[in-house]
Amino acid sequence: MPVRRVRYKPALNSQCLCGSGLKFKRCCFGDNDVACGKMTDFARDLMIRKDYRTALKYVRHGITNYTILHKTNTAPYITSNNEGVMWLLDIDIKALTELTESLLDCYRGLNDYQSFEYDLERLRSNISDVRWQRKITYFQVIASLGDHWSEKVGRREVKKLMPLDEESDADIIQLYLHFCSDDLPFKRNIDILERLISLIEKPSEKLQYTVVKAIKYLCIGDESESEKLIEQAIKNYELTDWSSDNSYGHMQHALAISLLADLKHSAKLKVQSIQEFEALLENHSWTDSGIADIHFEIGKSLFHIKKFEEAIEQYRKSLEIENSEIVKVFLSQAQIELNDEGAICTIREVEKNLSELSESELLDYIFTYAAIGIAFKQKDMIEKSLGYLSEASLLAPVFEKQKSKLVSEISLLYKTGELEGKSNLLSTLKRLFGLTTRYLILQPNIAGLGVNINKIADDLASESNKKKQSDE
Ligand SMILES: [Zn+2]
Repeated sequence: MPVRRVRYKPALNSQCLCGSGLKFKRCCFGDNDVACGKMTDFARDLMIRKDYRTALKYVRHGITNYTILHKTNTAPYITSNNEGVMWLLDIDIKALTELTESLLDCYRGLNDYQSFEYDLERLRSNISDVRWQRKITYFQVIASLGDHWSEKVGRREVKKLMPLDEESDADIIQLYLHFCSDDLPFKRNIDILERLISLIEKPSEKLQYTVVKAIKYLCIGDESESEKLIEQAIKNYELTDWSSDNSYGHMQHALAISLLADLKHSAKLKVQSIQEFEALLENHSWTDSGIADIHFEIGKSLFHIKKFEEAIEQYRKSLEIENSEIVKVFLSQAQIELNDEGAICTIREVEKNLSELSESELLDYIFTYAAIGIAFKQKDMIEKSLGYLSEASLLAPVFEKQKSKLVSEISLLYKTGELEGKSNLLSTLKRLFGLTTRYLILQPNIAGLGVNINKIADDLASESNKKKQSDE
């Protein structure tokens, strides 16, 4: 006998299901049969036009309407443990997660993470399943990070999601790895990455995280395993319909090709990656910081094939758009190659803002600083670099080995003052250039959120615009 389900009706005076904190009758009451998909479509269009205030109303309405569906069709039957109901519950969690992402987009546009946090707490009761509870906590961590993902805040907040042993939520694992990967022992890192890669559905993200796994192998000095992994990951990605993937996917591809080029010492692959980065510049409307990033990548690739002047040109383009200390570090490396004493000036500028460098960027700075001191016979810089090196912490095994050797060689050089015997040391240092950022900076980041929040968001908006035009 078919069961006639009684439609769930929120009380008019109860708190609205959208999390706004208002009474239902003053918030999302009315139009409660309209499909949430429609609501999010309206909201997307408004967000593209940057009308986040109105978009927020539609997203909220979508959340309310979906929650009514959940409370009508799924929630009353969860205790039955019926397979079909469990399947519905999965879908409900996914759907409300997507709606909550849109809610985040609105609040990000309004620059109001505080209200987002309040809403989230009220949304906890929409689904009484532990996975939803963890998802809410995940969003709260994202909210606490705001626009500038501070490592300190991230490491502290992400503890709220521990332990992760049973975690099957790819977003949560990505967030955890983003902040904690460098502190984990090798085996644990690989285990979590493998679990994550098996959970990920998007080909571009599979590529991204397989590259991260490959970098972990690089950090323990296993270049051949690393190369194998990257090659296979690129192949797998290219087997998908990747030409129609979004620019985020193309960016991952270009980065993977660039890294493979390093490992294979292949100028041909480097040229390919440069071409792909250049195509990204032409075909997509990135934000300014997105464009600055791509020029930086092109510069690094040009450096690698010894086109130092062109590399400098790209670094300068990047710096014109957005000031960045790490780009200056790379700029000074290219200046050393051209025997340009301007390198001293460039690196001293960075010296004034060391707090803006991340831990891995700081390593690049230190190697570069030492190299400039030696190349241009700056005794005070050589002395200072010794201090930097001995203070540097949290090095991957591959650098830890180099570090003690470097310290003793630079000390010797400093004591004897025999700067003529410097060429070996200088080439050791040069080999380390860029290695650290290449090895360490390509850490996990959250697809669509990540470090370059604004870059990705604008990019996706412009793409959905394009898609719309082609649909019409
Ligand atoms: Zn509401």
